[in-house]
Amino acid sequence: MISKSALAFLRKQSNAQNKVASMTVAHQRNFAGGGPKKPAMPASETDFDVVFVGGMNATALLKFMQHDGVNYKMALITEQSRFILPQSYFAVSHGHIAELKLESGTVSAQVEQWSRYDTFAKVSQFLPNQNKVKLSNGREYTYKALVVNTGFKHTSEHIEGLPEFEKDRGENNVFVHAIDHKERLQRNYYHGWNHNNGDMICYSPKFPYKGEGTDFYALYYEHFLRQDILQGRSARNAKIQFWTPNKEIFKFPYANEVALEECRKRGIDVYFGWEMLSVKTNEHGQKIATFRCTDTGKTIEKDFFSAVINPPSKPHQELLDSGIANGEGVVDVNPYTLQHKRFENIFAFGDCIGVNTTRTESAAIHQTPIVKHNLTQFMEGKELNAIYDGYTFMPFLLGHSYATNFQHYHDYEPHALNHWVPHYGIFARWYFGRMMKSQMQMGEKFSSFKKNHGPPYYNFNPRYLPVEHNDYLQRRGIPVSEVKMFEPKVRVAHDDHHHH
Ligand SMILES: Cc1cc2nc3c(=O)[nH]c(=O)nc-3n(C[C@H](O)[C@H](O)[C@H](O)COP(=O)(O)OP(=O)(O)OC[C@H]3O[C@@H](n4cnc5c(N)ncnc54)[C@H](O)[C@@H]3O)c2cc1C
Repeated sequence: MISKSALAFLRKQSNAQNKVASMTVAHQRNFAGGGPKKPAMPASETDFDVVFVGGMNATALLKFMQHDGVNYKMALITEQSRFILPQSYFAVSHGHIAELKLESGTVSAQVEQWSRYDTFAKVSQFLPNQNKVKLSNGREYTYKALVVNTGFKHTSEHIEGLPEFEKDRGENNVFVHAIDHKERLQRNYYHGWNHNNGDMICYSPKFPYKGEGTDFYALYYEHFLRQDILQGRSARNAKIQFWTPNKEIFKFPYANEVALEECRKRGIDVYFGWEMLSVKTNEHGQKIATFRCTDTGKTIEKDFFSAVINPPSKPHQELLDSGIANGEGVVDVNPYTLQHKRFENIFAFGDCIGVNTTRTESAAIHQTPIVKHNLTQFMEGKELNAIYDGYTFMPFLLGHSYATNFQHYHDYEPHALNHWVPHYGIFARWYFGRMMKSQMQMGEKFSSFKKNHGPPYYNFNPRYLPVEHNDYLQRRGIPVSEVKMFEPKVRVAHDDHHHH
C-alpha cells in the first residue's frame, strides 16, 4: 500500500515530469489538448498491430495504451457501448451507493478515434493460426497480437425455466444475479428481502464462474431474516440455504473455512454437490427447483419460497472452436506474464483465463498493467518482465452493514491484509461503507472517460525489473524458465511505435 502523502509526492513528481516531457515528446501534447489531432482510423483498415476483444476491461486497456502514446494500429471489438461496473453491482442493488455510479464511460468517450472500435459487434470466429478474426458485422481483421478479455457466457438461459421467472418485476421472489444491464438492478432491488416463510435458495454455479468469491450474500440475507423473525414479519421456520454443485463456497481454503463456520453459527444450511437444472411453479403454485447430485446423478425436486441465483457460466463456443480455450473451457495463459502458453502473440486477462486465483473485477484490474506492459515488450521484441502475482480481492458481506474481506495471491496464498477486519462491531460497520465506496471508486476511475495511464498509479506507469530480480518470483522460488516461454522477436518497426 502507498500512503496518501507518498502518493501526493509522487503525483507532484509525475506532473513535473510530464511538463518536461511535453516540451520534448510530441505525443504528450496531443493528449493535453494541444497539438495536431491524430487522424481517425480509416474504416477501410483491416490489418492491425493489436486487436482487443472484450468488454469494459479491454476498452480500458486500449484507452491506457493510447494515453501511453503507443502508436500501434489498434482495434477493439466489443458487444456493448457501455458497461455495468461489477464492483458497484451489489452496493447499488440495495441502495448503498447511488445508481448514477453504476455504469462505465461509453466506449466512444474512452477510446480516441485514431484506433478503430467496432461496438455492438462480436468476434464470431477466431483463427489464431492465420492471425485473423472474423466479426459478426462481416469484417475480417488480421493482427500481430491479440488480446482476449471475453469472460464467460453468463445467462439465466442456462437453467431451464429461469428466464420465465425473470419476466415479472421481482414479485415472485426469484432473482438472478448478473452484471448485464442497469434494468436488472431495478428488478433486483428486493433480492433477499421479503422472505416470509419456507426456504430461500442461494445458488452458486459450478467453478469456474463469473462472480466466484463475490456472489456469497447468504449472510447478508440472514441478517434481514433474523430481524424480520424478531418482529414477527417472517415465520420462525423461514430458512436461508446455500446450494452449489461445488464442494466448497470459496476455492480459497482460508475463506471457505471462515464462511462455513459463520454459516454454522447462524443456522444457514449448506448443500454441496447439487447442480440446479430447472425451476418451475407446480399445479399448487409452489416453486420447485430440480437439482442433480453431482456424485450419484440422482435428481430431486425441492420446494422454495425465495431464490437468489447466480446462473452457470459457460465458455464461449468461438473460443473453444478456435483452440484458444483449452479442454476446461479457459484460456491457458502463463499465470505470471498472461501470455498464451501455445500462441505466443495472444494475451488474455479477466475471467476467461485459467489461473489459480479467484476471478474478480479487482483481479482483472490488477492484470491490466501486466498485459499492457508485456504486450508492448512483446511487440518490441523485449523480455516479458511484468509479473502478475495473482492478487485478487473479495468483499465478505456479513450483514446489512457489516463486512470484512478476503484477499490472496496465486495458489491461494493469503495476502498480508487478508481478512483484517473483525466480523462485527464498529470496525466491520465502518469498513462496510468504506469498502463499498472504495470498490466503486476503483471501478469508476478505471473505466471513466478520463485519459490516464491506468492502474496501479494512473498518473505514471510502473516499471518492472528483469524477471531474474522479480521479488514475487524469488519469494515463491519460481524458476525463470517458467516465465520465459518464447524467444522475443521485434514485431513493429521502431518508427511505428512510441513517441511520434
Ligand atoms: C453477481 C456478481 C457479483 C460480482 N461482484 C463483484 C464484486 O463485488 N467485485 C469484483 O471485483 N467482482 C465482482 N464480480 C465479478 C466480475 O463481474 C468479473 O470478475 C468481471 O466482470 C470479469 O471481467 P471480464 O472483462 O473478464 O469479463 P466480463 O465482464 O464478462 O466481460 C467480457 C466481455 O467480453 C464480451 N465478449 C465476449 N465474447 C466476445 C466476442 N466473441 N466478441 C466480442 N466481445 C465479446 C462480452 O460482451 C463482455 O462485454 C461479480 C460477478 C457477479 C456475477
